[in-house]
Amino acid sequence: MSRLLFWIALAVLVVAAIRSKLRQAVKRHQQPPDPQPVQPPGRAQGAAGQAARARAEAVANAETMLCCAHCGVYYPASENVAAAGRDYCSAAHAQLAPL
Ligand SMILES: [Zn+2]
Repeated sequence: MSRLLFWIALAVLVVAAIRSKLRQAVKRHQQPPDPQPVQPPGRAQGAAGQAARARAEAVANAETMLCCAHCGVYYPASENVAAAGRDYCSAAHAQLAPL
């Protein structure tokens, strides 16, 4: 009997742990990325400041991604081929009908 209770308790703990992890993952997925910390100019910054600056620069340089109406691949907006009001990743896919 005690063996059965042990296995039931273990199963309950495993299910609780899995649910907790799933809730954390969902919460992390729903939260927007942390805003960049605003640092006063002219202040000495270490490696963390350089990393933050590089991250801010990468965000500023990030390009909008579009989804191809034919194959569904995401590609940079600068490579967009627009045809009949839809966006395509290449001229070949623009000539083919959307799936
Ligand atoms: Zn495509």
